[in-house]
Amino acid sequence: MRKPVIAGNWKMYKLIAESVALALDLKPLVANANHCEVVIAPVFTAIKTVADRLEGSSIRVAGQDCSTETQHGAHTGEVAADMLRDAGATHCIVGHSERRHIYGETDAQVNSKALAALAAGLTAILCVGETLEQREGGDAEAVVRRQLEGGLRDLTASDLDRIIVAYEPVWAIGTGRTATPEQAQEMHAFVRRVFAERFSKEAASRLRVLYGGSVKPDNIAGLMKQTDVDGALVGGASLEAETFAQIIHYDR
Ligand code: PEP
Repeated sequence: MRKPVIAGNWKMYKLIAESVALALDLKPLVANANHCEVVIAPVFTAIKTVADRLEGSSIRVAGQDCSTETQHGAHTGEVAADMLRDAGATHCIVGHSERRHIYGETDAQVNSKALAALAAGLTAILCVGETLEQREGGDAEAVVRRQLEGGLRDLTASDLDRIIVAYEPVWAIGTGRTATPEQAQEMHAFVRRVFAERFSKEAASRLRVLYGGSVKPDNIAGLMKQTDVDGALVGGASLEAETFAQIIHYDR
């Protein structure tokens, strides 16, 4: 049985006080959400305060990114994965499409970030997903395969329980346009097949594959009914506690 994960990506929103307020508003609303793991990803500057204020709660805190570098040193502006861990994070998103498309991150960099997150003891949430042009050109699977194979390079069997894949079609992120449950299921099953080829069927059967892209309270239940959808990575709709809690309680 794979335990679902519902993760909120707060992107570059909210000052520290606003982040704490959102986390504390969310806390009682999801206190009895034992059916899934809840993760929130505030901006770097708020991680420590939010994690401290959530101590004793089951809500986990994630970084939205980390450095490819694992050695502390002269890397101005970078934040190492073990610094995120030190601040109270347990998870780290890597390869978000905004990082890939706005900042030009390559699969090799995403792979280094995933390895750095794992080495620091974090769970890496590896994002993959095709653009609309790639989907319409019939290349969606090839793109996702390349991102998976590139992002997972050099991972070992002992890392696999700390890898979560988020399938986030770029055309669905922040656009209000969601993949249909069938489109999500089709790609999630493909992700699991690629993972099985790369590692083992057994590891693939344990892999959590999240869907991301305009997830809202009114579309989460249909997505979660799909066999290979094990949760969601939620952007815009995670910025308001009631709305995010409704998504987390998709089973009600
Ligand atoms: C995201 O940021 O990962 C995301 C899926 O955003 P949204 O839910 O706003 O589409």
